[in-house]
Amino acid sequence: MWIIWIFILAFAGLIIGWFCTKIIWQYPQKRNIFHALKCNSCLNSLKSVYQIPIIGFLLAKGKCSNCKSNIPLYMLIIPIITPLLLILLFLKFHFSVLFFQFSVLSIAGILIFYLDIYHRIIPDIITYPMIIIALVLSFFNNLGFWNAMIGLAFGAGIFILIAFIFRLITKRDGLGGGDIKLIAMIGLSLGFQLTFFTIFLSSVMGVILYAFSKIRHNVLIPFGSFIVLAMFVGIMTGNELIKLYLGIWGIQ
Ligand SMILES: [Zn+2]
Repeated sequence: MWIIWIFILAFAGLIIGWFCTKIIWQYPQKRNIFHALKCNSCLNSLKSVYQIPIIGFLLAKGKCSNCKSNIPLYMLIIPIITPLLLILLFLKFHFSVLFFQFSVLSIAGILIFYLDIYHRIIPDIITYPMIIIALVLSFFNNLGFWNAMIGLAFGAGIFILIAFIFRLITKRDGLGGGDIKLIAMIGLSLGFQLTFFTIFLSSVMGVILYAFSKIRHNVLIPFGSFIVLAMFVGIMTGNELIKLYLGIWGIQ
């Protein structure tokens, strides 16, 4: 029976991932996902082969047939990773409220990851509904309402504090309002422990990237994308890694 569910999830993930690519693609042109895909460089319609997820990208070699500009790699990657994420979540959480919740959260995460990288935006239209979903589901999942509340207070509290200090020192905005809503969404969805893990890991990733790349002061780092990446690692392995770490120190 499991194998059937895995096939269903793979198929659902492919379709959902495909819709995600369309949302990210159409975002700068402010077109909805049912409009034909147009090249973001020359604005000509893309070949109809691009309507087929994964295969279309490979057949057209990831280029616009008109101006030969590169089609972003996410058109290929998202329809592959979405089914994989759903299957991994299913294997870890089986059919539980958390499986459903983390699946929706992961899809939102994929959208935010790429929208923040490509367009430097974390849309309210994603974070607000996710905050409400996390709040409602906290009464039914095994994280619990108070754990969600502590996750929210901890995550949002730290971010507001960092934003305040950053502004005080540099007189510029470091963390956007979108980042604060994003961490509120994650705090409510993951509870205290994994929110702590997510913030810790995303900070480490941010510092490493800052140290090793040419990104300098005037460039806005897509910090939301790091947070989402750390969130995925947290959902899949965070509790186990924390346990391992505490075990090394003999705490647990
Ligand atoms: Zn083109």
